[in-house]
Amino acid sequence: MKIKKYHGDFTNGLPHTYEILQSGGFCVHPAVKSVAIYGSRGLEKIPRFDSDVNLWLVVDTKTIPRDEKKAMQFLDEVLDETEKNWKGQNPLDLFVVFDVASCNLRCLEKGFRRCSTNPGMTNCLGIYRRSALFRGFLNNEGCDISQALPFCTVYLA
Ligand SMILES: [Zn+2]
Repeated sequence: MKIKKYHGDFTNGLPHTYEILQSGGFCVHPAVKSVAIYGSRGLEKIPRFDSDVNLWLVVDTKTIPRDEKKAMQFLDEVLDETEKNWKGQNPLDLFVVFDVASCNLRCLEKGFRRCSTNPGMTNCLGIYRRSALFRGFLNNEGCDISQALPFCTVYLA
């Protein structure tokens, strides 16, 4: 489904990236409850003209099947919805992100450097990644919320 209303922090703070997503027909799967941006087209604001757009698609852990094979199938569908509808010039670099420490990723929405529910914890993220070289869950690397800072909320369902 196409996003009708983007988050104000994003449209106001990153108008050029907003234009890229809007004109490229950016879509999300209904299971996606929020989208966050980081990297060069995010608040770092150092993009080259051909820079990709680094996005986290956040899904509710409760919607992910327990069975690993089914979980991967489901998360592929989440990625497909965005990738198949994308018509923009800039590639999207997508990670599906979900809560693994029962914090509901409030820490992410609020831009905290540490988990808001589990003090001292920064790796409260589960991450699913699909690229030319890799398909699966990242368990030990890339799960640290502080690595994606500064990030900006693009969309909240
Ligand atoms: Zn957390």
